[in-house]
Amino acid sequence: MGGARAVKLHVHLSSDWVLDTEMREYRPNEEVDFCIIGSGAGGGVLAQRLARFGFSVVVLEAGPWHDTETDMVSDEAGSARLYWNDERFTGGTDPLEFGANNSGRGVGGSTIHYAGFCPRLHPSDFRVRSLDGVGADWPMSYEDLEPYYAAMEREYPVSGPRQYPWGKPHGYPYAPLQAGTAGQMLIEGCAKLGIPVVAGGPVAIPAGRKGKRPHCIMRGFCLLGCKVGAKSSTMVSHIPRAIADGAEMRAECMATEILIDSNDRVTGVRYVHDSRLEVQRANAVIVAGYAIESPRLLLNSKSNAFPDGLANTSGLVGKFLMAQAGPVVWGRFPNMIRQYKAPPACALTEEFYETDPRNDFVRGYALQTVAPLPIAMAHLLIEENGEYGESLLERMQDYNHYAAIGVLGEILPDARNFVSLHPTEKDRFGMPLAYSHFNLFENDRRMMHAGIARARAVLEAAGATETHSVNRYAHLVGTCRMGFSERDSVVDQWCRTWDVANLFVCDGSVLPTQGSANPAITISALAARTADWLHHNARHALTRDERRPVPAHR
Ligand SMILES: Cc1cc2nc3c(=O)[nH]c(=O)nc-3n(C[C@H](O)[C@H](O)[C@H](O)COP(=O)(O)OP(=O)(O)OC[C@H]3O[C@@H](n4cnc5c(N)ncnc54)[C@H](O)[C@@H]3O)c2cc1C
Ligand code: SF4
Repeated sequence: MGGARAVKLHVHLSSDWVLDTEMREYRPNEEVDFCIIGSGAGGGVLAQRLARFGFSVVVLEAGPWHDTETDMVSDEAGSARLYWNDERFTGGTDPLEFGANNSGRGVGGSTIHYAGFCPRLHPSDFRVRSLDGVGADWPMSYEDLEPYYAAMEREYPVSGPRQYPWGKPHGYPYAPLQAGTAGQMLIEGCAKLGIPVVAGGPVAIPAGRKGKRPHCIMRGFCLLGCKVGAKSSTMVSHIPRAIADGAEMRAECMATEILIDSNDRVTGVRYVHDSRLEVQRANAVIVAGYAIESPRLLLNSKSNAFPDGLANTSGLVGKFLMAQAGPVVWGRFPNMIRQYKAPPACALTEEFYETDPRNDFVRGYALQTVAPLPIAMAHLLIEENGEYGESLLERMQDYNHYAAIGVLGEILPDARNFVSLHPTEKDRFGMPLAYSHFNLFENDRRMMHAGIARARAVLEAAGATETHSVNRYAHLVGTCRMGFSERDSVVDQWCRTWDVANLFVCDGSVLPTQGSANPAITISALAARTADWLHHNARHALTRDERRPVPAHR
C-alpha cells in the first residue's frame, strides 16, 4: 500500500457512527490492489471484505455521498437525487422503465432506496435448467452460498420469522418487525384462503436498535432512503467498516473505461471527476455498477484484443437481461388502511414460488406487501386506465382505503433481452448511452397472469370490495452472467471474467437466473464469497505474470 493522507468524513450529520471515521486517500496514480466500480449491494460488501483482508482498495462511485439530513427528505418528489436519472434508451415489446424504479446513484447504490426485502433464493434456483428444462443452472449450489447468506443476514442485519418455511427452511437472526395495516391485509387474506404467509420480514430493518443505529420509526419512507438510518443500506452496514479498515470511497467519479495492457491484463480505470479525466491504477478491477452500467462500461472498453468490448469474446456481455415481474395489485377496503404507515416490506408468501405441474407455466412467483406512496399510487391509477384530472383526484381521495400487494415473479433469461450501446447518442462523459431491449415471452405472461389472479383473490378474501392491477417490473439483473465455461457466460463462479485474469464483475449482472426473491442479499452474499476467494487466491488475480489461457474459440 502507498502513502496516504487522512480526511475527516462529513457525511451522516444526523448520525454519529460514521463521524469519527477517518478515510484514507490514495495519491493520484498510486497503484492499489483493487479498484471497485460502484458501491451498492455488491461493491459495498466487497470493499468492506477486501479492506479487512488487508488489501488496498479504492472504490469509484459515480454518485455522491448522500447526507441523510438533506437528501432523504421523506418526500417522493424531492428524492430524485438518489436515483440514476441519466438518459437510457429502452425498447422491445415490453420496454423497461428507468429512474427511481430501477437503480440508485451514490454511495450505497440502489440499497439506499430499496425496500429492504431480503429473502434468499431457493435451492431449486441454482438448477433451473436441470429441473425445468428452461433458463440456466448456476455453476454453484445453494449450499455454496448458504454460509454467506447467513453472514449477510447478521451483518445487514435481517429481521424475520424464527422459522422460514420455504426453500431450504431456516430462521432469521433478528426478531420480526411489526407489520403495518397493509401487511395485515395480506396476512388476513392468505389466512382465509389457507395460504401459508410470514410477517415481519425477512427485511433489512432491525426490530430494535442495532449498535449505534437507531430503531425504525415506522414512517414508511423506506423507498426514499431511511432518514434515521434504521434500514440497512451498504452505506450504513458495510461502507463505514470498509473506510475504517483503509478503503477509500471516491464519490462523484464516473468510470468510463477499463484499461488493459498488451498482456490482456487490466491496469486500471479511467474516470471523470469534476470534469477532469483521471486514471486509477490497480492490480485488479471489480465492476459492480448494476445490471445496466456494468455491461455498458465493459462494452465501452474496447481495444485491439477486445474489439467488441472487454471480456466479451463470448458475445454475451449485455445479453440475458432479466427483470422480475412486479405487477402491483391493489384493493379498496371499507376501512382506512393508511398503507404508507410502516415499512412497505413487511409480509410475504412464497407458496407459489416453485414449479407446480398444475400450472400452465414453469417456475413461479411470490406475493409481497408493497405500499405505494401517493405519487406512486397516482401513477398506478394513470397507468391502469389513463385516469387524469377530476377523476384522478376523486380516486386519490380513496388513497387511505387502498392496500397493495406486489407479485414478484420469475421472468426467465432469454438472449433476446439485452443491454447494448446506443449507436449514436452519448452522455456528458462521452460514453454511448445504454439501450435496453426487453420482451416478455409466453411463460412470463402466463406466470404474471396467475400471480395477479392470486393477489386479487387474497385481497378479496381480506375484505377488498374492488381490486385493480397494473403490470410493472423490478430488479434488473443478468447481463454478465456466470456459468460453466467461456462459451456460456462472462464470469466464472468466483465472478472472475473468463477472458481477463484480473478483471471481475460482482453485482446483480452475474445472476444466471433470478428466482422470485428480491436480489440484494444474494448479490451481497456473492460478493462476500468472491472476496473470500480473493483472500485465498489473490496470487491468481494479482500476480502480474498470470494471464488467462486464451479461450479456444478466440
Ligand atoms: C425502488 C427499488 C426497490 C427495491 N427493493 C428491493 C428490495 O426490497 N429487496 C432487494 O433485495 N432489492 C431491492 N431492490 C433492488 C436492489 O436494490 C438492487 O438489486 C441491488 O442494490 C443491486 O446491487 P448492485 O450491486 O448490482 O448495484 P447497485 O446497488 O445499484 O450499485 C451500483 C452502484 O454503481 C455505481 N455506478 C454505476 N456505474 C458506474 C460507473 N461507470 N462509475 C462509477 N460508479 C458507477 C452506481 O452509482 C451505484 O451506486 C430495489 C430497487 C429499487 C430501485
Ligand atoms: S419506515 Fe423505518 S426503516 Fe423505513 S424509512 Fe422509516 S424509519 Fe427507516
